[in-house]
Amino acid sequence: MHLEAFYHGQRNNWSYAYDKRTIHLRFRTKRNDVEHVYVAAGDKYDWGRTYREKEMLKTASDALFDYWEVAFRPKYKRLTYGFKITAGNETEWMTENGITSYQPQPPGGYFEFPYIHAIDVFTPPEWAKNAVFYQIFPERFCNGDPSNDPENVEPWGSAPTYTNYMGGDLKGVQDHLDYLQDLGVNAIYFTPLFESPAYHKYDTLDYKKIDPAFGTNEQLKELVDECHRRGIRVVLDAVFNHSSENFFAFKDVREKGEQSKYADWYHIHEFPVQVKDGIPTYDTFGFFGAMPKLNTANPEVKKYLLDVARYWIGDIKLDGWRLDVANEIDHHFWRDFRSVVKEANPDAYIIGEVWNDSIAWLLGDQFDSVMNYPFSSKVLEFFANGNLDGFSFANSMGYLLMRYPQQANEVVFNLLCSHDTDRALTRCGEDKRKLKLAVVFLMTYMGTPCIYYGDEIGLKGGNDPECRRCMEWDPKKQDHELYDFYKLMINLRKNNQVLRSGQFHFLKADLGDKRIIYERIDDSMHFMIWMNNHSEPTTLTHPFETDDWIDALSGEAVHIRDGKMSISLDPFGFRIISRKLAPQEWE
Ligand code: CA
Repeated sequence: MHLEAFYHGQRNNWSYAYDKRTIHLRFRTKRNDVEHVYVAAGDKYDWGRTYREKEMLKTASDALFDYWEVAFRPKYKRLTYGFKITAGNETEWMTENGITSYQPQPPGGYFEFPYIHAIDVFTPPEWAKNAVFYQIFPERFCNGDPSNDPENVEPWGSAPTYTNYMGGDLKGVQDHLDYLQDLGVNAIYFTPLFESPAYHKYDTLDYKKIDPAFGTNEQLKELVDECHRRGIRVVLDAVFNHSSENFFAFKDVREKGEQSKYADWYHIHEFPVQVKDGIPTYDTFGFFGAMPKLNTANPEVKKYLLDVARYWIGDIKLDGWRLDVANEIDHHFWRDFRSVVKEANPDAYIIGEVWNDSIAWLLGDQFDSVMNYPFSSKVLEFFANGNLDGFSFANSMGYLLMRYPQQANEVVFNLLCSHDTDRALTRCGEDKRKLKLAVVFLMTYMGTPCIYYGDEIGLKGGNDPECRRCMEWDPKKQDHELYDFYKLMINLRKNNQVLRSGQFHFLKADLGDKRIIYERIDDSMHFMIWMNNHSEPTTLTHPFETDDWIDALSGEAVHIRDGKMSISLDPFGFRIISRKLAPQEWE
């Protein structure tokens, strides 16, 4: 065995409380190197009576490693443990003291989970596990009220630039709630709505006021109430990293320089504040002089922004926040932010914009979720670009799943595209078959899926500004076949708990082969998804013991022959089959 590959950490994604009673442990070994991993565990104050060994399950693999997982529900909420690893007739033990070929005398020197504190358990809101989000870029969704249009508004459907206006607003969203309900989504994520000089509203002028071109605070309140009546949650985008250069505090700094009482609200290197040779004399988002970075460690700034967070959640009854450039703001701020938001609404869902590994924010004291761009990047590499084989794709997914605790994986914000990327259909070379495979994967995978407005009716476009085109409302120009497909997949997910919270495993993911099979399984249902991510038709075969499968979309029986199931798949085709499980069949 390759001992140097053994790894376990007594924290984060390696050892965590999944709920008030359950501890999850993970262990890493070199890929295909060991046969079994067991946890030998007990309560250190009563070792003799509580000691037991439990086998770990290999839950994921990446290119280099296998990952093993097990759940414990210790009677006294404490766990002291070591790992026993076997291959052939070789046995190794790993504890905090190191690796030995014999079992070290317990419990001294073993790993420890000292106590499950309910207050420390990372508990994302339950509804987020069942949500299917729809992202709306309000300036471009629908112009429902021409009376609030900006002066220089262009006709709906004009080519988008970095600065032009089309007149979209809250009334336009309100007018299309039937549409969203018919599609089946049950949560909306709005990019910023607060007053701002830019059409995208990412540089805020007034954090407590809806931009007049979108409507009023009262209108948003009405919209949120109406959404709630229809079972739709509403999450808003907040930009606390930076303000507009015309935000009252920065304006004061520009006018009074060092004497301004807001001078410490920003990170200023040199007065007067200005942009010299393209570099501002103060910290900004990127190098944009119009987006000065707020000093969120300053107690006055913090109080100001936390009041904003509380107001929209408490008074307007929003269901959560999506936080822009969240990784460039200090962790102290986010911990206080979570307390304030959860106090106003314990069910609020907090999603950070972090494009990289986000474990530092996903431990229960800051965010519930992050925008899962690493997911979209790998999913599109596989389905859209076709430059991964099943093996590399499965390795990427396995690696991503093992980065976070399970409760984070259950609500991580999975997307195929957004206002900051190419449209998914465009990434797929406008091949709808490829887009559909990606959508099937999104809707049958772990995590909270989000659809970017217009993807469902075939909207196209490269990166910003192309991806921010006006929503197409002319029925003759909408792709109805694609819409029906999205609707079908959304409903499949909503009607099957197992697709939201069941275990996920790849059953086929081979080197040099773009055909994959994966399963979702819980104690009552078993789904198996077959995909041919290749331009030639194919027939896939997989061994099965039972003959009670049906096609999950058509309801037709799908039979096995000689202990095997054979499924023919079109180029870029898929098949979803399912069966009901008797409880004892699970595990
Ligand atoms: Ca308007």
